[in-house]
Amino acid sequence: MTAPVILSGLNHWFGTYHALRDIDLSIDAGEYVALLGPSGCGKTTLLSVLGGFIAPSQGVVTIGGRDMTHVAPAKRPTTTMFQDYALFPHMSLRDNVAFGLRMAGMGKAARHKKAEAQLALVGLADAAGKRPHELSGGQRQRVALARALAVEPDVLLLDEPLGALDLKLRRSMQDELKAIQRQVGTTFVHVTHDQEEAMAIADRIVVMNAGRIEDHGSPARIYRQPASLFAADFMGEINHIPAQVTQAGVETPFGTLPASGQPQGPAVVCIRPEAIGTGGAQIALGAACVRDAAFFGTHVRAHLIPDAAPDLVLIAHLPPGSVPGVGDRLDLSASADTISIFARE
Ligand code: ATP
Repeated sequence: MTAPVILSGLNHWFGTYHALRDIDLSIDAGEYVALLGPSGCGKTTLLSVLGGFIAPSQGVVTIGGRDMTHVAPAKRPTTTMFQDYALFPHMSLRDNVAFGLRMAGMGKAARHKKAEAQLALVGLADAAGKRPHELSGGQRQRVALARALAVEPDVLLLDEPLGALDLKLRRSMQDELKAIQRQVGTTFVHVTHDQEEAMAIADRIVVMNAGRIEDHGSPARIYRQPASLFAADFMGEINHIPAQVTQAGVETPFGTLPASGQPQGPAVVCIRPEAIGTGGAQIALGAACVRDAAFFGTHVRAHLIPDAAPDLVLIAHLPPGSVPGVGDRLDLSASADTISIFARE
């Protein structure tokens, strides 16, 4: 089951603290949305408003076309999966997964059949009789997912669901979560502060900062053409080049770039490390001296001091073929379509 979600004009104050600011967001039925942002930016508060655990000070929450703003969590077509997804230790996995169905009055045979189908969905078909302590962290996480999906919510809300797992397990669970979401078609809203996780799982990323939505869109769009300097920085490493927007264009230490509607005044030109190379691209950055370089498997990460701006240190991800030596000189360029320009406040 699945449903669209519309958040309009949401504001929330904790006392005098303005935790959610003018949030407007439409989520399609079956969409996988990641709420991404630093600690304290309001992700959990927004998820709690969606789940009905917090009534917003202002604004409306519509789920499946119905106003849910003041409807209790249990009466919403949502299920929330918290990071500390406490499973009942004394119950089998089957009974853990069937718990919500039992509360909903489903008979034993039917709920056990459904619980076993949900366990099969998360790859634990043979473990229905086990207890939670017999499982690894990743397996427990999958049981929690099966339990959350068993009640067939229209919208599943996940608060840092992979936060307790080690990095390798996190990456494989991200792939599994996305595959399961595709299979069941439920709308997923997933809170994370890890931009790689957001890119791995989401159809759309919503970048939050200080209670506001800074940007939302496909991972590729936000990464390549972020709407704000904050979103550019939060989506991964990026070079900041000081610039000045004048009538002539965007003046940088490397020459003047064409302006595209930026206001005149101080600006910053942002270039991702992998957009900087040693040939074939459209914007010449000139000669640079290698300060250090390290082999990363997929690329060589180098710190480079450009002749045109010796106070700057550019980070470049160069092809992994050969590692330049300290002091080597490279002729740098960047591809124009990966450059973002923002006014500097
Ligand atoms: P994290 O990633 O650390 O969980 P978050 O982005 O989920 O952070 P929230 O938990 O939504 O952030 O909190 C947003 C802000 O609201 C924080 O500054 C927090 O201190 C504040 N806040 C959250 N809950 C309450 C509360 N019940 N009372 C007062 N302030 C709160």
